[in-house]
Amino acid sequence: MDINKYSEIIEKTAVYPRIVDNFGIAYCLLGLSGELFEAEEAWYDWEFGDGSEEKVLKELGDICWYTTALCKILDIDVESVLKGELEYEGSGQPGNIFEMVKKFYRDGKEIDTQIVGYILSDMMVSNVLFRLATLRDDDPMKAGTYTLASVLKMNHDKLMRRRKENTLHGDGSER
Ligand SMILES: [Mg+2]
Repeated sequence: MDINKYSEIIEKTAVYPRIVDNFGIAYCLLGLSGELFEAEEAWYDWEFGDGSEEKVLKELGDICWYTTALCKILDIDVESVLKGELEYEGSGQPGNIFEMVKKFYRDGKEIDTQIVGYILSDMMVSNVLFRLATLRDDDPMKAGTYTLASVLKMNHDKLMRRRKENTLHGDGSER
């Protein structure tokens, strides 16, 4: 099919709302997605390029921020999620959160916070906790640096400094 002809389908079938309430959920999900990609890139650079452990730790901290924010908005237990402790008797993968949030905005359908909690917990295990364990194995001398607590502290201090310097808005990790 001709691509220009095909693209007319958007005006005819897109049904998303132009203005939404509770935008914080979408904001946190967008932020979390971005940070997952940034962490992936930092991880790859550390393994194969000229990356650094510090850059990886910073990105892991950013994942923690958005995960915590999402948990707070949806009233999910932050500690269980960040520690990767939530168990769910079912299956779920990150795509389910995107689908649920999309339908929440489009159709007003309720978000199943139990499933979201489980998926976020699982994402913490594979994207943050597993990487911290790998860094610890790689450099036992700095094991104390590669803990969830130290990542949270690093993220906390960075953001509190930005808040004080009024640079929470803006681009780049070096502000
Ligand atoms: Mg980042």
